[in-house]
Amino acid sequence: MLRRRHPSFPPRPPLPRPRLALFVSVALLAGVPSLLSSHDAAGQRRDRQPSAAAGRMLASFPVAAPAYYRPVIVDGKAFPVARSNFLSLLEFPNNWHAPRLRLINGTWQLVGVHLGIDIISERGTPVLAMERGVVENVGWTFYSGTRVGVRGADGRYYLYAHLSSVQRGILPGAQVGAGAVLGRVGNTGYGPPGHRDEFPPHLHFGIEAASGEWVNPYPILVKLYSAVVAQTVRAQTILDRLAAAGKRGAWGTLAGRTYMSLNLPGGE
Ligand SMILES: [Zn+2]
Repeated sequence: MLRRRHPSFPPRPPLPRPRLALFVSVALLAGVPSLLSSHDAAGQRRDRQPSAAAGRMLASFPVAAPAYYRPVIVDGKAFPVARSNFLSLLEFPNNWHAPRLRLINGTWQLVGVHLGIDIISERGTPVLAMERGVVENVGWTFYSGTRVGVRGADGRYYLYAHLSSVQRGILPGAQVGAGAVLGRVGNTGYGPPGHRDEFPPHLHFGIEAASGEWVNPYPILVKLYSAVVAQTVRAQTILDRLAAAGKRGAWGTLAGRTYMSLNLPGGE
């Protein structure tokens, strides 16, 4: 029988390569203890010392703790949500000018359009200043929930909304650099102070020109995010190679430069 190829069949996307650091973490947490135990004749599990080979393997593999990558600064700007080495949930569909409905006296009414981009990420993910500047507003508004507003050095106003918490030291008048941690992703807002859970956690990010007009941040977000992905994937690939080769010293130096060390407020 003639074997036919199916040229119209869509090519299979490449499978994501598992990260070595994560794999080793999982092995340490789950697999290795069971590998290191055995069952005696009565079927009871006995724990024993790791074999010499397993011990050498464990000693030679540096393991990255779950961490966020340091901000990647491009032309003085940073993508406003940190990327992590353990979770890839970071999405920002272009919802600039999407219709906004509000429940007014029991009916949904079109009240305007979305004046920003929503960046979906896990609750607690660090929110980073895109542009250096001076903090202008911190605190609650009905729709934004807990928000930070920064007057950028470029004269524009940068809005970071729905935060679950604000970073210590982020107060009106504080100077922040590009990539500074402002707070953490949450889903506060659409209610009185403290109200949350009306929608999934995300950062509402907006840029208001000095003229008072909101501008579409989508193009700059796309540009900055692709730079973040390129640079963090490059660094992670090198880290994985160093880990596989057991080069702990070089791995530690690069890990320190690659991952953020955070002193974030506890909880959310
Ligand atoms: Zn939004």
